[in-house]
This record gives sequence, structure tokens and C-alpha cells, in this order.
Amino acid sequence: MKTVYLDNNATTQVAPEVLDAMLPYFREFYGNPSSMHSFGGQVAKQIQEARERAASLIGASPDEIIFTSCGTESDNAAIRSVLTTRTDKRHIVTSRVEHPAVKALCASLSQQGYRITEVQVDKSGLLDMDQYESSLTPDTAVVSLMWANNETGVIFPVEKAAETAKKHGIPFHTDAVQSTGKIPFKMKSNVIDMLSISGHKLHAPKGVGILYVRRGSKFSPFMIGGHQEKGRRGGTENTPGIVGLGKACEMAAANLNRENTFVKGLRDKLENALLQAIPRSRVNGDTAHRLPNTTNISFEYIEGEAILLLLNEYGICASSGSACTSGSLQPSHVLHAMGVPFTMAHGSIRFSLSIYNTEEEIDMVIEKLPPIIERLRSMSPFWTPALACAGE
Ligand code: PLP
Repeated sequence: MKTVYLDNNATTQVAPEVLDAMLPYFREFYGNPSSMHSFGGQVAKQIQEARERAASLIGASPDEIIFTSCGTESDNAAIRSVLTTRTDKRHIVTSRVEHPAVKALCASLSQQGYRITEVQVDKSGLLDMDQYESSLTPDTAVVSLMWANNETGVIFPVEKAAETAKKHGIPFHTDAVQSTGKIPFKMKSNVIDMLSISGHKLHAPKGVGILYVRRGSKFSPFMIGGHQEKGRRGGTENTPGIVGLGKACEMAAANLNRENTFVKGLRDKLENALLQAIPRSRVNGDTAHRLPNTTNISFEYIEGEAILLLLNEYGICASSGSACTSGSLQPSHVLHAMGVPFTMAHGSIRFSLSIYNTEEEIDMVIEKLPPIIERLRSMSPFWTPALACAGE
């Protein structure tokens, strides 16, 4: 059975060109980039080239790129660095809808005595900018706000939020794991101090990420060890992963337009067809400020998990809530924060596309999903056909 992969916010396929770029660094060029000999030195050169490609994607300087092991490490490194360099500050501002990489870290920091403000979102998932601004205090150590939400794709105005933080002298970090490669941005044109990227969300392998740190910012390493990454991240470099991520960044820059035309077109086609064919369905999240590849749709009165199981029988991969919360029947914290009613939140499915999807795949989902919903609703004690005609 062919797989129809629509779960790209969970992880992406490694691009064939990325794999090709990586293979020599497993087979032939296995030297340690820190070694004195030229066998290692040639590897160091490739790491530098990857750094330049990554910097170019986000409009940064190569020396502002630190390679890490994943998005989670980058988020932890950013926030902990500020807390280490601003020891007199005990307050952190974040949002209610962050990924666990930030949310759970903040929960852990609150156990250690830090005060955490989670800024509210409205029913479209947009950040309450008034509450954000009023939450900044002289005691605020750092702000960490995600650029785009992994579950809904809703985009926060982080460049504007960073300017506000700067006026108060507060370092600003953004988790750009979902937005990098999907929306254009240039770090030279904003005042964001730190930014996290994850390789496996942009067709590089798992196990490699980036932390951007603006030149001149104070930085205290999270991984303490050797002098790698100019002393900012100890540990022998994941050379194949870094080379692969460099190639993926180069490809992401070339594919940005395709993301915002072709991928967006497929997403819109899927969304419009499903909304039209299925009564009592609706999109979660502001559709005007949203990643081009993501749609989160609620089908009222049924369980998202049941929908996923039936889609799986056709080889269609999607997700309910985020991958990190699957296995739990708790409604997603993101939809909860948006005030999505219980009967809607439970029946929510996230489809997240990539440049590798095709029109035929989207047509298949449009064909298979409506009868699945009808079948599940016919078994639901809460559903009556009259509900299909009733207003919400
Ligand atoms: N931040 C966001 C918004 C994410 O979606 C994810 C992964 O789903 C992460 C951070 C964590 O990235 P990684 O899996 O590379 O640790």
C-alpha cells in the first residue's frame, strides 16, 4: 500500500539530495573536524559550508549559527543561557500554546522558583499582544514565543514582539522549528536575539538542529565540554547530520516559493473540499496568519484517534494534536487555550503537507475521509443527522 504522508509537522522525509550529501561523511570522510590532520580538516571545511548555507536561509551571519542535536536542545539552550547570564531576573514570558520543548522546560523552571507568564491566545490562536506587553516587567529575564504553532500553523508576530522586548532590554527567543523553510524571514531585518531550528522538520535527518544567537549577545553554553562551535556547544559534531542540514537549508531557500504556491494550493484544496463535504467541520486557527502547509480541522462529535485509525487503513498518515501528546486522550493544550469546545477539540485532525505531496494524494483524502466521518458519526451516541443541518 502506498503511504500518503500528511504529517510533516511531526517529521519530514529526508530529501534524496540531502541523503546523497551525507553519505560520504559516513563512508569516507569520518575524520574528527577538530583534528590537526587534513583528513579531519576537510570535514571541518564542510561543516563551515553547512553553516554558511544555514545562515543564508535565515539571513544571518555564519558565526551566529550553532549546531545542536535538535529543536528541543536549541530551545533549552536559549532559555537556560539567558537565565545563566541574567541571574538577578526570575520571570519568564512565554505563551499558552508553546511546544513541550518550551512549555515543559518553563514548568520545570517554575518548580525552581521562576515565575512564568503564559500569554493567552484568542479563539483563532492569535497572541494577545496587549497582555504580552503588559506582562513584561523589570524582573523579566527572557521572552520565548514560538514563530508558528505546530498544531494549527498559526503565526505569531514575533518580529514585532521582539521589538517590544528590546525596548524593555529583555532578550527575545523564538522557536522557529515550524516556520523555518515555510515562511521567509531574515535575521538581519529583525531584532530577535535567539532562534531555534530543527533539521528533521525541513527534510534533513533527525538528531541535528540549530540555535541562532545574534552576534554580540551574551551566551552561556548548555552542553559544556570541548571547544566545538567556538565553545558554545561542546561535543564532537554530528558531521553527516550537519552536512545534511546545510544541504536541506539550501534546498529550503530554493523551495520557499513552492511552499507558498504549490503546497499552499494543495492544502487549500484539501481544506475547502473537506469543509464542503462534511457538515459540522471547521478549521482551528486563523487562516490569514498561518503556515502554508498546515490545516487543523475539527469534525464534531467523533474522536480524532478513531479517524486516524481508519485513515491509516488507506495508508494516510495525519495526526490528532501534536505527536508528542499522542497516546493521551487529553484534548490538546493548544485547542484548549483557544477555547475550542470539547466536542470539537476531540475530533480534530492536523494535516501537514510538504513539497513531496501530490494532487492525486490530496484527491484520495478528499475521497476517503467523508465516508469515514459518516461511518463514525453513525456509531456515535452524541450524533443525530439533524445536527448536520443545525447551526453551530
Ligand atoms: N518546537 C516545535 C514548535 C516543534 O514542533 C517541535 C517538534 O515537534 C520541537 C520544538 C522539537 O523539535 P525536535 O523534535 O527537533 O526536538
